[in-house]
Amino acid sequence: MISGACFCKAIKFELLAESPMQGLCYCTDCQRVGGSSHWTSYAVAPSDFRLLAGTLTPYTYDPGSGREVTRHFCGTCGTQIMVQSDALGVASVNAMTFDDATQFSPQIAYFGGSAPHWCEVDQRLTAFGDAE
Ligand SMILES: [Zn+2]
Ligand SMILES: [Zn+2]
Repeated sequence: MISGACFCKAIKFELLAESPMQGLCYCTDCQRVGGSSHWTSYAVAPSDFRLLAGTLTPYTYDPGSGREVTRHFCGTCGTQIMVQSDALGVASVNAMTFDDATQFSPQIAYFGGSAPHWCEVDQRLTAFGDAE
């Protein structure tokens, strides 16, 4: 069982299933939101994400695909906890918020073509998504 929390610990959650899709997302949206070269994505079904404490602050937008995405944050400390796509039936959970970091093993590189020039995408990861 995976459990996690935001930076200030107001948000606590657990995941009811293991993820078959673990990866790093280098899209420019994830870069801007997270202040990093990539987002650590632990994808599960939305119903397998269980909030145990706190209230998530949602921000919904269209990333350009025509399918709305909602990014969920802690309203107190701003940690991004999860990115949900109802159209795709996926909740991409921030693996860096896990209580046990060893439970994340990324296999996929999403949108590696958008990685910043100073960042080298690990070639052992399976590429997924547009090159640019
Ligand atoms: Zn917080
Ligand atoms: Zn992304």
